[in-house]
Amino acid sequence: MSLAGVAVSSGVAFGQAVHLIEQDCSVDFHLLPKSEIKPEKQRLTQAVKELISILETGQNGLEIDSENFQLIDADILLLQDEDLLNDMLIAIENQRFSASLAVDRIFDFQASEIEALNDPILASRAYDIRCLSNRLIASINGTLTWDLSHLRQASILFAKDITPAEFAMLPQQNISGIILETGGLTSHTAILARAAGIPALFNCSYQELSIRNGQTVILDAISGVLHAKPSQELQSALRLKQLNESERLQQLLTFKDKEAITQDGHKVALYANVGNLSEITRTTELGAQGVGLFRTEFMLMNATEYPNEQNQFLLYCDALHVLDGCPLTIRTLDIGADKDLPFEHHAHEENPALGIRGCRYTLAHPELLKPQLKAALRAANHGSIRLMFPMINQIEELDSILQEIEICKQELVSEEVGFGDFEIGLMIETPAAVMNINSLLPHLDFVSIGTNDLTQYTMAADRGNPQLTKAFPSLSPAILNLIKMTITAAKVFDVKVSLCGELASDKRAVAVLVGMGLEELSINLSSLLEIKSTICDGNYNNWQTLANSALKTSRVSELHELVCN
Ligand code: PEP
Ligand code: MG
Repeated sequence: MSLAGVAVSSGVAFGQAVHLIEQDCSVDFHLLPKSEIKPEKQRLTQAVKELISILETGQNGLEIDSENFQLIDADILLLQDEDLLNDMLIAIENQRFSASLAVDRIFDFQASEIEALNDPILASRAYDIRCLSNRLIASINGTLTWDLSHLRQASILFAKDITPAEFAMLPQQNISGIILETGGLTSHTAILARAAGIPALFNCSYQELSIRNGQTVILDAISGVLHAKPSQELQSALRLKQLNESERLQQLLTFKDKEAITQDGHKVALYANVGNLSEITRTTELGAQGVGLFRTEFMLMNATEYPNEQNQFLLYCDALHVLDGCPLTIRTLDIGADKDLPFEHHAHEENPALGIRGCRYTLAHPELLKPQLKAALRAANHGSIRLMFPMINQIEELDSILQEIEICKQELVSEEVGFGDFEIGLMIETPAAVMNINSLLPHLDFVSIGTNDLTQYTMAADRGNPQLTKAFPSLSPAILNLIKMTITAAKVFDVKVSLCGELASDKRAVAVLVGMGLEELSINLSSLLEIKSTICDGNYNNWQTLANSALKTSRVSELHELVCN
């Protein structure tokens, strides 16, 4: 029994299936029949007990004075609060509320009271209370999510979807593969799986196979196939495939200390895309020339509060130290759309990808932007920093950013704190940014093309929707032409141009991208050496000719045929 999907992170994985049940946090609004009152009260007390026991297990192994231990403790104390439990039981008895409605109302009241105090520190506690309320309702509905703290080694996770924030909380060392029903090739969860080197298959309707928890399955994310109940013969063949793949990766390590130079002597600078300090360490181990994209929001997906200026400064200094003279490109927080931070309450939006995202969000929240700018300015005294801004479409937004930088510099002067100079750049992620490029470039040192969003916004195709992945790939005539327009304009203004979308990590696209004149690529860590080896095997002269032909194609299929042959 096998099933195909979209392989978003390559590799072969053997393991036991673990289903991540989707939490059902829906509230039952029905008026409770009198006969149901007693059992409903029991459901509530039982659910409270179950959640307390799960939380207590979660504390095992944590230091008592650690922040996580204390946070879990606060939740346990709230659940043990007899007055609170009584209020909920009374609501069931007197108002004939369902248990879920009683929880929803009483916890909401608690959270609102805290919010009314208008204290930013307590605001995060109000958020925690709402999360706890959801977990308690899920427990009442019998769908409390799998407790991942007990995940056995070599587990293969099955879920409808995993958000980037949920991914950040996974015990990665015990996960050998991930299968999702949804998810696109350039979704942020796919990017995270690739960076972590975890084989992953998305857009896979695995329900058809009725796989049980604990069942042995094999994920072949090289060919994009999930195997349930594999025969002995198939198992041996896939073991061999896994072995060949690890030998291939081993071979690629020989490119670690080599420069990316084509056979006819054309040099390309390869940088890495990272999301935390340990990935920055791997950057140097893999021989990248620096960090071309530090997605700073990724490292906060698991955080309970926003790090202050000093903590961000120390982190950037650590990163510069690891990079030992190579540049660090810090992208300011790109939150919104599918990336929410646990400590930041983001108002509901009908179309979040078209809403308050990236710089739109940080410009509206100087309390988030300014500490990051000041930390980067201070770190620039200790190494080479490039600061990059996401989701800027027009000069007005860039004006506001430049103004904020000036304000931060003035504040540092009056605080008598030293700072250095950094390069300023923008992500090119929307067709508007390309059309407005001539007005933006005079103010910039560099631009970096973000093809994941550029494709999403040009094609009006949600990057997380697997049904659109095949028809609207980044490797398409429209996107190549937008890239070419950006390169041409940047050369006129003598501004450096890089490409940091996942297209740079696609070995089929390298010839065309380099042939079009890109001298810098920033790549997902798992693809870095493969791209380097492709460049070292290539011929720049031929690639220029290929790129000219590619830019003249009008169909995706025609383009793919051209670049794949
Ligand atoms: C992009 O949009 O191409 C990009 C690199 O940014 P992100 O994937 O983080 O949105
Ligand atoms: Mg983007």
